[in-house]
Amino acid sequence: MTEVFTVINPATARAVAEVPEAGLAEADAAIEAAAAAFPAWKAMPPGERAALLRRFAAVVDAHVDELAELEVRNAGHTWGNARWEAGNVRDCLNYYAGAPERLFGRQIPVAGGLDVTFYEPLGVVGIIVPWNFPMPIAGWGFAPALAAGNTVVLKPAELTPLTAIRLGELAIDAGLPEHVLTVIPGKGSVVGERFVTHPLVRKVCFTGSTEVGKRIMRGCADQVKRVTLELGGKSANIVFADADIAAAAASAPYAVFDNAGQDCCARSRILVERSAYDEFVSRLEPAVAGVKVLDPSDESSEMGPLISAQQKASVTAYLDEVEVAFAGSTPGGDGFWVPPSVVTVEDPAARIWREEVFGPVVAVMPFDDEAHAIELANDTEYGLSGSIFTNDLGRGMRVARGVEAGNLSVNSHSSVRYWTPFGGYKQSGLGRELGPDAPQSFSELKNVFFAH
Ligand code: NAP
Ligand code: MG
Repeated sequence: MTEVFTVINPATARAVAEVPEAGLAEADAAIEAAAAAFPAWKAMPPGERAALLRRFAAVVDAHVDELAELEVRNAGHTWGNARWEAGNVRDCLNYYAGAPERLFGRQIPVAGGLDVTFYEPLGVVGIIVPWNFPMPIAGWGFAPALAAGNTVVLKPAELTPLTAIRLGELAIDAGLPEHVLTVIPGKGSVVGERFVTHPLVRKVCFTGSTEVGKRIMRGCADQVKRVTLELGGKSANIVFADADIAAAAASAPYAVFDNAGQDCCARSRILVERSAYDEFVSRLEPAVAGVKVLDPSDESSEMGPLISAQQKASVTAYLDEVEVAFAGSTPGGDGFWVPPSVVTVEDPAARIWREEVFGPVVAVMPFDDEAHAIELANDTEYGLSGSIFTNDLGRGMRVARGVEAGNLSVNSHSSVRYWTPFGGYKQSGLGRELGPDAPQSFSELKNVFFAH
């Protein structure tokens, strides 16, 4: 029995599409078809697999505007973000199209023969994608997984299936064999759960909440199934008094309010050295007021709505507990809008300081010295990303090594490049995505000794 899910435009709360959802039987059929497609995909000469991935990249490139438009409507992303996101899928495919012919093993010296290692694909890889970055997170999984010779089943979030469905069609248009990449819209509790329990799925690659991630890890243990987890964050933006305070304050809103704060890398805690605190906060206020919160169908919008009424309620519940120091504006209307909001915090035990709000809310706190800044930054179970603003090179190096997080930037807020590794410390995740080593994480390493 097929259920139908109504996809909503979060900027207007109006329906944009109806999407049939897979049940258990359809999920099983898709997984079995992916397993049947695996031997031929694995056996394809590396150069041919590479050429198909490059062709897939070219087809995505020809559809960047169409994919972006779908994401603007389905996820409320700004045009600038949505075009970047579609381009990121193309770039990931092109980058990992360089992998099939370069997935080298080693020859290791031994007595009495020859010892060689091989990277071999796992089989079917299940990718579970959240609603916050539907296109990039899909591509970070499927591009290296396919390059390494696996077939892929991908479940988009129920709320944001449209771009994933389109990417699945474009893969076929590009000439990828049937069932090498299959997009299966459906519920996490049905299709996502089946990736965990179905024995033909050899690895689950999950991005989403820490709570569901733990459940997936527990479930995968039954079959010793490989798992990569990209979970939540509560990342710190650490501003030292010796930094360019004007520049740090001007960039801070975009480091947390991008995608309306629904970003696992959002710098949602700002730590400011006490001697610069008042200046920073007074400069932050106009910077926040300057964020253009508009319907994303307007090309000049810098921040759109939250993804759903439920997400808005969850974010608003945090704001109801605190006094907002200052906030930006929203266009109002029926969409799921929350203004960019700044809260000053004294007590590191405050819920808004500790929990991932996943909305346009930032908490600001002063610190006394370098050691105190590192201590506050690390006082969390998360460890995904963070920024450090200082003009002291030595301090930049010390603090970058002292903060327990997978992705840090000094005097910038960049976290994600497809050619550098990405992932979390502590409860922000397990394993790494992207970068030069991603195909290896979709492979088994085999050692063979040939006696002579
Ligand atoms: P979520 O429940 O973890 O959902 C992420 C993905 O997992 C979705 O595709 C979801 O499917 C699927 N899923 C849900 N339950 C599952 C299960 N039992 N087995 C397998 N897959 C399952 O995240 P959410 O509910 O959308 O958001 C809740 C919170 O998670 C956010 O407020 C935020 O704190 C965090 N989050 C973090 C990230 C990140 O990038 N780290 C991304 C999104 C959310 P359906 O949604 O279709 O049911
Ligand atoms: Mg959920």
